[in-house]
Amino acid sequence: LQGWTQPAYSPAVNRLLGRRPAHFIDNEWVESTGNAQIEVIDPSTSKIIGHIADATAEDIDRAVRAARAAFDDGRWSGLPPIRREAAINRLADLIEANADEFAELEAIDNGKPRAMAAAVDVPGTVAQLRYMAGWATKISGEVVDPLSAPTGAFHGYVRREPIGVAGQIIPWNFPLLMAALKIAPALAAGCTLVLKPAEQTSLTALRLADMVLEAGFPAGVVNVVTGDGRIAGDALVRHPLVDKIAFTGSTEVGKIINRTATDTLKRVTLELGGKSPVIVMPDVELESAAAGAAGAIFFNAGQVCVAGSRLFAHRDIYDRFLDGVVDASKAWTPRPSLDPTARMGPVVSREQHERVLRYIDEGRRAGATVMTGGDAPAAEGYYLNPTVLADVNPQMSVVREEIFGPVVVVQRFDDLDEVAAAANDTAFGLGASIWTRDLSVMHRLAAKVRAGTVWGNCHGVLDAALPFGGYKQSGVGREQARQGLEAYTELKSVIIQL
Ligand code: NAD
Repeated sequence: LQGWTQPAYSPAVNRLLGRRPAHFIDNEWVESTGNAQIEVIDPSTSKIIGHIADATAEDIDRAVRAARAAFDDGRWSGLPPIRREAAINRLADLIEANADEFAELEAIDNGKPRAMAAAVDVPGTVAQLRYMAGWATKISGEVVDPLSAPTGAFHGYVRREPIGVAGQIIPWNFPLLMAALKIAPALAAGCTLVLKPAEQTSLTALRLADMVLEAGFPAGVVNVVTGDGRIAGDALVRHPLVDKIAFTGSTEVGKIINRTATDTLKRVTLELGGKSPVIVMPDVELESAAAGAAGAIFFNAGQVCVAGSRLFAHRDIYDRFLDGVVDASKAWTPRPSLDPTARMGPVVSREQHERVLRYIDEGRRAGATVMTGGDAPAAEGYYLNPTVLADVNPQMSVVREEIFGPVVVVQRFDDLDEVAAAANDTAFGLGASIWTRDLSVMHRLAAKVRAGTVWGNCHGVLDAALPFGGYKQSGVGREQARQGLEAYTELKSVIIQL
């Protein structure tokens, strides 16, 4: 197993792993009311490295009641907005000051290379917090003259108020960044919250809770409860004292959550799966576009909701482009997450490893040609070789379903209408990228593709200032930007007869 050894963890990370499993409720570390624990596994070694608490419905109830009390007495929403802004910025500063530790934690918990976590996840987290912190002082309503009364007879205005207690459930692919995408707008709007990280990757959310305490947030504003989705997550979605559910994860679970939340008519935002197209026109510079297309799928081992998993190359360049992507995939050979040369790590879990290999096998049996990869290296971690599949057709499961691994399917096309129709022939609509130097083609295609984000000559770039979310079965609502903030608010109209 030479070359597959995971370097030693730092003392700070070992300290966190050595802690007693606990939830963060009402600014205190509390043990679970049950005895169950969840194993923490390093995907680079498949070894158990620690345990976290597995919440009961009672633990969730306790956290929700703390968040409810903190919301209802106005200890957070009633603060001067400039103090809310300062607290969120302090949290951002603390994360930035501990960036190395967060990057390492993410690497050993999720399997992503530490260098990637340091370059993407941690700065992205800080940016989300700082961006939303600024909104705390800029939330405003409007004055509206009622239309059927003489001017001056009534005073009408619209207040924008925090929605209340938010229940937030996140996946394992970008654990810290997803936590920030959830807590930042909630805190800026004046909400209180209960965050349930994914059972596979809760370490950075727990460390984040330390920083919440250090940043001086009032008790009960931020609560972090670790546990299984079907028990802890479900209890959060059902809880009558929760006003809003924000969920990021699979489309399958998103549908269950949407149905469950209907019973209490909670506000729901959903960020779900995708099968994002990458469309390459014949005028591109082949080498850099091929490297871009490889990055679009192999970044984070393909465990990205907007992963460019369906590649469409124009017929004129198809063969050369395919060769280019196969070549570029060599740069994504998996390595242990703490190896400084790692660009792609293992996938997150044994379950995910098996699932991806199953899909590749299904594709092969349906007639797809494996151009590179298609297998796993002989190592103890959950590594997969970057995989490129050609000779696919739109009926194959590898083309229709979200694999959530380092697997791309490549198809050819002749003209714009054809590729737009093929790109839209999916239940999803999260992202898409278009690679061309022809601006007219770029804008025409950008308008035709039904997806929440379209990238030109890049893929997967997220920015806190632009709304992010899905068309079709990729989600409901938007995160980031003003719209993401507003998703944590209610509108109240006030009409006064003068
Ligand atoms: P998942 O749906 O299995 O789990 C996500 C979260 O939901 C976890 O915290 C889990 O514990 C919880 N959960 C599971 N069952 C639940 C239930 N019945 N009730 C309440 N909570 C429950 O997803 P995953 O496998 O962790 O993540 C991968 C998925 O996330 C992919 O489909 C990916 O596309 C999607 N994703 C979407 C975005 C986006 O912004 N659109 C971002 C990242 C990931």
